[in-house]
Amino acid sequence: MNKDQSVLLILTGGTISMGEDPKTGALAPLDKEQMLSFLPELSQLPVKISTISFNPMIDSSDVAPDFWVKIVETIRDNYDRFDGFVVLHGTDTRAYSASAVSFMLKNLAKPVIFTGSQLPLGFLRSDAKENVMNAIEMAAAHDEQGRPLVPEVSIFFESFLMRGNRTTKRSTDNFNAFRAYNYPNLAKSGVHIKYFPVNILPLSNNNPLEINTKLDNNIVILTLFPGLRKEVMAAMLNVPGLRAVVLKSYGSGNAPRTEWFYQLLKDATDRGIIIVNISQCQTGSVEMGRYETSLNLQKAGVVSGYDTTLEAAVTKLMHLLGNYDHREDVVRHWEASICGEVTIQ
Ligand code: ASP
Repeated sequence: MNKDQSVLLILTGGTISMGEDPKTGALAPLDKEQMLSFLPELSQLPVKISTISFNPMIDSSDVAPDFWVKIVETIRDNYDRFDGFVVLHGTDTRAYSASAVSFMLKNLAKPVIFTGSQLPLGFLRSDAKENVMNAIEMAAAHDEQGRPLVPEVSIFFESFLMRGNRTTKRSTDNFNAFRAYNYPNLAKSGVHIKYFPVNILPLSNNNPLEINTKLDNNIVILTLFPGLRKEVMAAMLNVPGLRAVVLKSYGSGNAPRTEWFYQLLKDATDRGIIIVNISQCQTGSVEMGRYETSLNLQKAGVVSGYDTTLEAAVTKLMHLLGNYDHREDVVRHWEASICGEVTIQ
């Protein structure tokens, strides 16, 4: 690791930053000093590390879109002074935050690595130290020409570095809690750290970093299940101001052929609402038209989400709706990869 490298550690909260409240026994965020006191190793690392702390640090279940704006503004304000960024963030909504931040940072040419832990830093069996140390080393890693090895938004958790907008939290208690089901890992840490350059986004052009903070959260997630009531679905699709729906369909993108189901979707797309189809399965892709049960969706104007994760679908839609007023523009951009979040087939 190059001693000249510098990394900014951005503390936003999450279990990693928590301690037990003596009165209630519940985990709640500590302050920056208390938290860093559990990480004396930081000063021994051959990387210049600075820390910046959100005030207050929060449990990531309290994250809302304005929190993503705070994260990208922090990165923008410090971009020229650091070689890489490590964002300590709770696990619960981390996949949403990493996805959102990936869409909001344009021309990113430095690593932004989200990490955290399942057990607080101060706990004896905590996974925190390993995650933080690995993330810092990866954020500082450069080739001989000084180019960063992982110039994209990613998540490091228990041995694996994954593309942020491909990940999902998959376990409440395993240390191995994140997985990018539809995309190979960017790096793996063992005795040595192995990088997989073919899986990593190439360095973007030399244009300066831009942040795009326009987000529109007028969307809903509609998960299908046998027995979904017409009235419930109608109520969801007729919420005033609604602009987009993430439809979580069955298997490779299938849905019931009932007339009322088709009609509700068709009426919604006729009103300009964008409906994207992603699968309830964790691996594989939506293939509209493969079965008769997805032909109706196509006819109703539903758009394929291919292998997009729920987290990336929600945040990509917020980003596109924030930036484009017209349905056709949102759909056109939806159907292309912005920063490696989808494999279009
Ligand atoms: N509730 C915590 C959070 O997301 C869980 C964690 O960090 O592991 O902030």
